[in-house]
Amino acid sequence: MKIVYSSKYEVDLGEHPFNTTKYRLIKELLQQEFKNIEFVEPPDIDIKWLLKVHTKEYVEKVLNLKLSYFEILRLEIPLTKQVSESAVIAVSGTVLAAKLALEQKIGVHIGGGWHHAYPDHGEGFCVFNDLAVGVRYLQETTQLKKFAVIDCDVHQGNGTAKIFEKDTDVFTFSIHQREIYPFPKEKSSLDIELPAYSKDKEYLQLLEEGLKEVKKFSPQMVFYQAGADVYENDRLAQLKITKQGIIERDRLVKKYFNDVPVVVTLGGGYAEDVRDTAEIHFNTIKVFLEK
Ligand SMILES: [Zn+2]
Repeated sequence: MKIVYSSKYEVDLGEHPFNTTKYRLIKELLQQEFKNIEFVEPPDIDIKWLLKVHTKEYVEKVLNLKLSYFEILRLEIPLTKQVSESAVIAVSGTVLAAKLALEQKIGVHIGGGWHHAYPDHGEGFCVFNDLAVGVRYLQETTQLKKFAVIDCDVHQGNGTAKIFEKDTDVFTFSIHQREIYPFPKEKSSLDIELPAYSKDKEYLQLLEEGLKEVKKFSPQMVFYQAGADVYENDRLAQLKITKQGIIERDRLVKKYFNDVPVVVTLGGGYAEDVRDTAEIHFNTIKVFLEK
């Protein structure tokens, strides 16, 4: 089994709730548990693929580190050369994971899930929308027509929703907490909002209802954004989902879409202890590697 990973995701953001050491920790957990994983680096990507989703002006500003003060505030992370490069690599990583999903049935990317990025701007730590580029890439290079993006990050997948708003071949489903960023929220094909302090039982019940709706659309391939920030001890959100509840979440997604290729990307995760975040992401990958 090949899994996509790059050491370049571990960027220095200074004092920041987003701890980028999680990527390496996840890789280490996988190495300890599985002996048959080959970690593959995303190759250089032709910028033309980024332009299938993003405006030329925005892409050039990011590549040349020329975002305005306001644009960097909205991004909520500093735009350094490292950050810019890792954002491009993450797009390539999700495209590679998508290709692997066609061969292996499951394509795992220890990275990506940058669902807040819009065509003309980035926000909420997300520079480029790797999920959207991944879908656009497959639309152009394969015979597949119908895609679903299942977004279980605690924050709404606003950028993804907006990008595919008028594309009837792409079903966007976001299940997220109501009271937190982003404001206002976009309209996904299906949005399910949960109030703060929701627990495993109601979360999993609503998720399953949502997955049934996605299933009716009959996607030929699924991109899964498996954010870890639904976790009960996350610092940026207030859902109360346990680690076991998140494993059940991942199992439900796997169960409903066992018959199509699935691309697994990460997403948010801001637990006090980064090892908790890494463990949650590791558990997600483990669920998808299990027979
Ligand atoms: Zn999030």
